[in-house]
Amino acid sequence: GGMSGGVSGDLDAGTCRTVLVTGAARGIGRATAARFGREGARVVVNFPPGEREYAEQTGALVREEGGTPLLVEADVADPAAVTEMAAIVHATWGPLDVLVNNAGICPFADFFDIDVELWDRVQHVNLRGAFLVTQAFTRAMVEAGRGGRVLSVSSISAWVGGSQQVHYCTTKAGISSLMKSLAIVLGPHGITCNAVLPGAIATDINKADWTDQAKVDYFRSRIPAGRMGEPADVAGVLWLLSQPESAYMNGSDVLVDGGMFVNLQ
Ligand code: NAD
Repeated sequence: GGMSGGVSGDLDAGTCRTVLVTGAARGIGRATAARFGREGARVVVNFPPGEREYAEQTGALVREEGGTPLLVEADVADPAAVTEMAAIVHATWGPLDVLVNNAGICPFADFFDIDVELWDRVQHVNLRGAFLVTQAFTRAMVEAGRGGRVLSVSSISAWVGGSQQVHYCTTKAGISSLMKSLAIVLGPHGITCNAVLPGAIATDINKADWTDQAKVDYFRSRIPAGRMGEPADVAGVLWLLSQPESAYMNGSDVLVDGGMFVNLQ
């Protein structure tokens, strides 16, 4: 409780917040679920079909950190599954305070090898998924009138290209754009929408990068921080952006890349 009345962008730091992290089975999503768990939050751990075992490990981590996990299986690209997930979450805990759109895939492919099925799948999981989940959960947040946060994991790839990532980079530019329009739609309700743009973070999604020593050396030379990022580096910034002090940030692209982007020469 403790809101000063009316619509406010400020979340009460003293309450046990309700947070949904999509794609929380592994990687950045798992670290983010754990980070919010550390603050005693109620954390919805979304995972796709086939990844329940990983999601259970995330749930255990959330609990270890002091939070309360709720595991919900849903392919974020599937409208019916997203609707069902929203019904389960709302029936269990009511409206969210913080939504983290994190689910994403990045199957590297040469431009001339990208067929329409691959193009559509990446677009559907990464971009349509963020749209569907945000629409399904912010409706109840608006009705609750408590304000809140939508934080979407975009990428440095929203700003740069990748020869193996033509299908992926376009979704990340789309996610950043989605947050900008929704900042306008939801801002008047005290719900801010921002994108977080990780650089090179060592997770399953880019194993080919960090298991290739030449590529690791290249990244190291390119990243002023002197190392690739870890999931916790991104999770920490997502946590910062959920704080009341971030209430005046809306529609931003927040880069979390150890300085890689600005290091042209
Ligand atoms: P990851 O492969 O470890 O995690 C991806 C997560 O998404 C997994 O938990 C997976 O279960 C989930 N997921 C995949 N398809 C899903 C679906 N259809 N429905 C629900 N969940 C689904 O990789 P990661 O690096 O942790 O990626 C998380 C996000 O961070 C992605 O959006 C990715 O694009 C973004 N990102 C990663 C990097 C990086 O360098 N690792 C850089 C920039 C952005």
